[in-house]
Amino acid sequence: MRYRMEGATVLTLNDADERFAVGQVTWENGVITSVGEMDSDAEPVDQVIHLSHGYVLPGLLNGHNHAAMALFRGVADDSPLDEWLTQYIFPLEAKLSPDDIYLGTLLAAAEMIRSGTVGFADMYFAVEEVAKAIEQSGLRGWVARGITGDLNTGMPLLQDGIEFAQKWRTHRRITPMLGPHAPYTVSPELAKRISEAAKDHQLGIHVHLAESPKELHDLLRTGQTPISWAKAQGLLDQSQVVIAHGVHLQSKDIALLQAVSGGVIACPISNAKLGNGIMPFAMLHQAGVAVGLGTDGAASTNSLDMFLEMKAMAWMQKLQGGRPDQFRARDALQMATRGTAEVLGHPGGVLAVGRPADLIMVDGRSAHMQPDHDAVANLVYAAQSGDVRYTVVDGQVLLSEGMICSFDERAVLEEAKVRAQKLLA
Ligand SMILES: [Zn+2]
Repeated sequence: MRYRMEGATVLTLNDADERFAVGQVTWENGVITSVGEMDSDAEPVDQVIHLSHGYVLPGLLNGHNHAAMALFRGVADDSPLDEWLTQYIFPLEAKLSPDDIYLGTLLAAAEMIRSGTVGFADMYFAVEEVAKAIEQSGLRGWVARGITGDLNTGMPLLQDGIEFAQKWRTHRRITPMLGPHAPYTVSPELAKRISEAAKDHQLGIHVHLAESPKELHDLLRTGQTPISWAKAQGLLDQSQVVIAHGVHLQSKDIALLQAVSGGVIACPISNAKLGNGIMPFAMLHQAGVAVGLGTDGAASTNSLDMFLEMKAMAWMQKLQGGRPDQFRARDALQMATRGTAEVLGHPGGVLAVGRPADLIMVDGRSAHMQPDHDAVANLVYAAQSGDVRYTVVDGQVLLSEGMICSFDERAVLEEAKVRAQKLLA
């Protein structure tokens, strides 16, 4: 099938920041075949998607998620991180069945597809179910098997992650990874074994680092920072390293991060809501460290809306720096597209010939999107996720005129509601 999306303003987000006022993008077999101004003499295609007032841009990439936690949205809000995890979330997670995780991941997928996300990096357990849900949804997924504990309790989890990776690594849209949870939940010995396994099996690492002041404070007693702890266990010396949070960084951490193949994913809403702080974006950006954007799980962030996350990122950076020009709308859009793609080692995040056909069409006709003085400012500061009309991943239309095409959304929502109620009963 050959497709063409046309009529709207096309933002390529390429190095030259090319834009086409009345543009078109064509694709075939999941790959973009042309990008430019709309051409009335263009070759015929099998399906034309036309919108005259709006924007076509690379789909958003969510660099840090625990998708199935969508089932826990609204549970124990407003608690501190350690209390929230140990008293509420860990006991609930112990009750989750594989079917719950499949359903929870599909619930999250519905929200992501509707809000213009084309792929996400996930860390959870029962990853087989996570992968099946991603396969069904049509999204892209970087799926890390979450691993916690010491050599006794953690090695079976690592083995599970390796077996999962061997089974799924050739899937077109799914990239298996290993997910050592955090310095405070993984022993150094186990972290070293995860590093060795990642090298042996050529798997990327997805890890929470430098999230809370407590995590930094506890590690500093041993003379380490979360980043130097990860370096000492070999976690940073891998083919792809996705570091979630990176809020509490010290200057000596920056050189370690500069050497990483991958980068840091900011989760500003989760960090704000749990009172953890604000990521030092300028310090990382100036050091040339790749920085992307993610939501974290819906249990902490309540929403998997990357449009909201872009706004939050911009507001907090401006607030922290005390200067509105310190972080611009363009920085937020770059982070949510090319930035996350770079951290994940993915060629998406830009509209160009030969790149993956992962793109979205955003309606510009609503009152809150008018007038159209500045496309990027409108997309970052004014757009709402409900403005997304089309979401295309690997060339497949997953959202068409606001309707999810890849699965029965209503059935998923109804079943998720029942399962969530049972878990909390
Ligand atoms: Zn997380």
